[in-house]
Amino acid sequence: MREVPFGRPIIGDEERQAVLRVLSGHVLVHGPVAHDFETAFAAWAGAPHCVTVSSCTAALHLCYFHLGIGAGDEVIVPAQTHVATAHAVELTGARPVFVDAEIRTGNIDITQIEAAITPRTRAISVVHYLGMPVAMEQVAAIASKHGLAVIEDCALAIGTRRKGVHAGLLGDAGCYSFYPVKHMTTAEGGMLMTRHADWARLIERKRAFGVDRHVGERKIPGIYDVTMLGFNYRMNEIQAAIGIEQIKRLDGFLAARESNYAALRRGLLDIDGVSVFDEPEAGDVASRYCLSALLSDDLAPHRLDIVTALNQSGVGTSIYYPRPVPHFSYYRDKYGYAEASFPVAARISNHSIALPVGPHLGIEDMNYIVAAFKRAVSGV
Ligand SMILES: *Cc1c(COP(=O)(O)O)cnc(C)c1O
Repeated sequence: MREVPFGRPIIGDEERQAVLRVLSGHVLVHGPVAHDFETAFAAWAGAPHCVTVSSCTAALHLCYFHLGIGAGDEVIVPAQTHVATAHAVELTGARPVFVDAEIRTGNIDITQIEAAITPRTRAISVVHYLGMPVAMEQVAAIASKHGLAVIEDCALAIGTRRKGVHAGLLGDAGCYSFYPVKHMTTAEGGMLMTRHADWARLIERKRAFGVDRHVGERKIPGIYDVTMLGFNYRMNEIQAAIGIEQIKRLDGFLAARESNYAALRRGLLDIDGVSVFDEPEAGDVASRYCLSALLSDDLAPHRLDIVTALNQSGVGTSIYYPRPVPHFSYYRDKYGYAEASFPVAARISNHSIALPVGPHLGIEDMNYIVAAFKRAVSGV
């Protein structure tokens, strides 16, 4: 039997050597490697400013903190996303106001955003769901009409482009994740990308206690001022060293994901009762995090059987995401969302099976998944 794991970080000798170089020195935090990683990531994406952080969640939290968002404020949040997109708002004391997904792509239904805006709304957050670019110019138009900030959750969107522009540069800031199964990894870690110089300058400080100068800028060691409130949301030098090596592999990672996705898509579309999300519009690039197979109404009640059969064939699967965020107990109990709310996000949650396309796999693995999927479906 073949083993086709859902995700597996690719760590080579280059990463191991880079980590050892950091450990052989004396600087583990606040050093040059994190800065070099910011420069390399910015160059790769064509971004003017990047700031390393400890996670995507930290980057999202820093954005709302930077905007001064808190109790009494509201932020628009997609219902179909990782819980971190909403938690980052909730952590500030503000209220996430959820908007349903569109069935074509799983992205936020832009036509429903304006109805969710109130005088308390301060920002719109979007997630490029599974790497599919959101039509950001439409979101930006709504935001500028109402004077709102736009925060992009880009955790699955390294390489995602809308009309040629990399995700994270279309709103006010983009937040990236380097968690092990994402497109590239630093074990844990994240990056904040922005086109605003002042956001980068101030968030860099707020990431590290609000201290007014870097360690290297202190003329007399130990003398500094604290001019604002801040967190400890830094990335360390070990993580950054891994990140620099991962960027060198990134084009290869993304090409493998694209060719795996195309092969898997072709094979799955042959199976009755299975569909997939729309392809990106001409000129856009979707970064393929996984392939979410959508089951018909007839097949969906058998999803657990299909997943079990796939897993028994050695095919790793996941579900993105198991429930619309407002249906998780924390949000449902706090805000009282009805069972029938967010019907499109709920449909995606209940009808989808996420399949792997990562660079640890090749075309033969995709053919194997298709064959296993066919067997699983014919068995129900
Ligand atoms: C993984 C993920 C996050 C969280 O990223 P961390 O780096 O683990 O904080 C947030 N949003 C989305 C869409 C994700 O997939």
